[in-house]
Amino acid sequence: MTFFRRNIEEMTAYVPGEQPRPGEKVIKLNTNENPYPPSPAAMKACREFDGEGFRRYPDPLSTRFRQVAGHVLNVPPEWVLPANGSDELLTMICRACLEPGRKAAAPMPTYVLYMTLAKIQDAEFVEIPFDEDYTLPVQALITADAAVTLVASPNSPSGTLAPTAALAELARALAGVLVIDEAYVDFADENALALAREFPNVVILRTLSKSYSLAGLRLGLAVAQPGLLAGLLKVKDSYNVDALACAVGSAALKDQAHLKANVTKVRASREKLSAGLAGLGFRVWPSQSNFLLVRPPRGDAERLYLALKAGGILVRYFKQPRLDDKLRISVGDEDQNAALLRELKANL
Ligand SMILES: *Cc1c(COP(=O)(O)O)cnc(C)c1O
Repeated sequence: MTFFRRNIEEMTAYVPGEQPRPGEKVIKLNTNENPYPPSPAAMKACREFDGEGFRRYPDPLSTRFRQVAGHVLNVPPEWVLPANGSDELLTMICRACLEPGRKAAAPMPTYVLYMTLAKIQDAEFVEIPFDEDYTLPVQALITADAAVTLVASPNSPSGTLAPTAALAELARALAGVLVIDEAYVDFADENALALAREFPNVVILRTLSKSYSLAGLRLGLAVAQPGLLAGLLKVKDSYNVDALACAVGSAALKDQAHLKANVTKVRASREKLSAGLAGLGFRVWPSQSNFLLVRPPRGDAERLYLALKAGGILVRYFKQPRLDDKLRISVGDEDQNAALLRELKANL
């Protein structure tokens, strides 16, 4: 007798990037956190949070945050569904739409959590390979005909963006749900939010973890038409967004000037770091996000990952087909990026 369902027994757990102990001195470029602090307005909302807000259960729909998000994104508040990180929205979508006999599909390699969540539902997970340039494989995804198709754009770990036109073609042809995971889209030249207006099967995911420097707060949101959100609401934990996250997140979202300044800095550093790595002989994929997928000149990514780690710099190394000769490096601040380039140069 085992405690668990067969598929849980058989699956392997999702492994998040290493999180060093607080106070440990490392340059952390492995989980795409923002190198700069959150909005001062968000920190003020945090300091001034009233204890009464902790005594009571939070608003189940985080109405205040929904309204701010609707305003900022120019969609009706009823089209916004906040959650405890966009990871929770992915869980809700898979819970609501996947079961044995139904399929999920995604272009690969991508965010590993998609496969984990499909397996938890005991659904089939169809992997459609990206080509070397990470062009969205639209036709193959259409042919897969999945109940849930998941596209991260910009994609992780490649940093590449799927053009909105390609996503629209996919949305139009699919009968199932198309999840467009825009965790990094604030760092990109374009976004696909308009597709949520155009297509009833599209759900756009955003998060405050990356561009708003609030990964520890755990706040994300979905934008979709009310018919799609209605199904997700049925599987939602009643109080999934805590009152503090709602207050701090609302203040952060309102501070669009801070977001813009932050994104401008990160994008400039991205281009500089990208040029620096190319100068050392790395192949650098064109990134629309706050990280870079790179191939060292000799493809010895694991050795470099370990050498950097020994030197106090964490980057992400994926020991899996297609990625085991590459590194994914988050864009840090100017000092961190300079230290990274120095350490790489010394170890090449
Ligand atoms: C970071 C990330 C997320 C998770 O965001 P949270 O809101 O912190 O849960 C979702 N999708 C992708 C592709 C990510 O890289």
